[in-house]
Order: sequence, then C-alpha cells, then structure tokens
Amino acid sequence: MSVVQTIPAAATPADSTQREIRVNRQDSNTSSNQNRELTPLETISHGGPTLQGPPANVSFAAERLHRLNHMAAVFRHWSREGYFPQSFWTNPLGVHFGLLTASDIVLVNLDGRVIGGNRSRPANTAGFLIHAAVHEARGDVDAACHCHSPAGKAWSATGRRLDMMTQDACKFLGDAHAVYDAYGGIDCPLARPARQGCILKNHGLLTVGRTVDEAAWLFDATEHACRDQLAVEAATAGGVNGVTKALIGEEQARVNFELEADADYCYAEFQVYYDYEYQMSGGQFTK
Ligand SMILES: [Zn+2]
Repeated sequence: MSVVQTIPAAATPADSTQREIRVNRQDSNTSSNQNRELTPLETISHGGPTLQGPPANVSFAAERLHRLNHMAAVFRHWSREGYFPQSFWTNPLGVHFGLLTASDIVLVNLDGRVIGGNRSRPANTAGFLIHAAVHEARGDVDAACHCHSPAGKAWSATGRRLDMMTQDACKFLGDAHAVYDAYGGIDCPLARPARQGCILKNHGLLTVGRTVDEAAWLFDATEHACRDQLAVEAATAGGVNGVTKALIGEEQARVNFELEADADYCYAEFQVYYDYEYQMSGGQFTK
C-alpha cells in the first residue's frame, strides 16, 4: 500500500514545472458572473459561503507544508478505515499509517534517489516503481494513491470494471476508470489523461488527483464502489428470490460524474477527514 505526492525539493523563480495555482471562485455571486454555469462546489453549496477547493495564491513554502500535512492526514484516515499497509512509497517503511507524521515522509525523485525529507528509513521499492510510472506518464496529476484495501483487492480478482449503480461508482464513468490485467507489471495503467481510477487485477486500487486530498477521496469512492459491487453481486447471484441488479441510467450517471468527479469538489469533500484526523491527533501529524 502506498501514497505518493510529488513535492519539489526547492522553490526557484524559474521553476516552471510547478502547476499553476488556480484562482478561488469567491466572486460567484457578483452580477458579472450571474450568467455563467455554476461550479460543482457552488452547485452543492446552498445558502451561506461556497465550499472552497484547495488554497490558492499561497507561497511555495505554504503549499509544500499543506501537501505534507494533508498527506499525513490521508495515511491516518486510511489507518482508521482499515487499509493496512504492506508497502509504502514516499511514506517510509516501518511506520504505521496511523502514527505517520509529515516529517516521516520521504521525498524520492523519479530515478529512485532520496532527495529530501526523512532519510532515516527507506521507501518501498515496489511502491516506487508503480508511482514513478504514474508520475512520468501523468504530468497533470500531483498525487497518486495505491493500497491493497479489502474490497478493492477482492473485486480486482474478478478483472471486471465497476457497474454504474451507485454515486461512488459514477465518479469513474466511462474512460474515468480501467482494469489493468497485467499482474506484476509496472506499465502505467493510468496513462490516458481522462483516467482517474484503475483496478489492478489481483492486486488493488490506484487513483490519481491534482491534490492528495482529491486522490484520497477518489480512492475511498473506488473502495466503496467495489464493496457495494461485491455485495450486490452476492445478493443477485443465481437470481435467488428474484433479486436483480439495477443500474443508474446513462444521463443521470453523467450528471453525477460531472458534479462529483470535479477536482475541487473531491478536495473539499476530503476536508472533513482531514479535520477529523487533526482533531483526533491534536495536530500530531503536522509535526
Ligand atoms: Zn500494491
């Protein structure tokens, strides 16, 4: 199991590889914006201020600290969810997910060299190969989440895509997810830009995002969709008692996808878990 987030080792004025910081959409209620379409976050925010996406227009140092803290929170959330680790990427080997802090995280470049962060423990070799392949192929994402979560691992053994039968599954409509059936391979299963989730056959799940929070929220959604699919397949097996499987219609699935697979939407949704982990640890994971 592993999570990785690419974190530049140092900030320079010429650092053109850093993604652009998006502008917060805090002007949605002004008259000049009345005729434009609402963003997904504006759509779900009824009354009061609009739920916000990732922080914008912050310094490099603040962005870097934000990424590390949120990554540590994701590990603590995974531990609480029972996604127990067998392997790690930029998190070090030998530290329980539930105890991980920002200063434990190892910074490794795509050549596999440790270039910063915690140097007291190694990263995981298999995790490095998977995540390096993703980040080399997908310059549009800053984070990838992979681990051997229970339902994801079980459903992956079927080698089947997810059916569009829950809101969680609809986040992976059409090309947004794929099944990668080369067990043990290290080719990038998410090479196509539209893809944000992948079922690694006989292995586990892999999601990507522009923030670790987005990738983590999508990971939870994939895991939940796999859990639900396992339950529905079991309940409808053999047509016992006339129980059948109902799918969400194409149009409604598309509406769900366009709203709930939005990057800012996913980031904002994960903040309840970030806040929960912060409160439960007294902020320990930011150490
Ligand atoms: Zn794995």
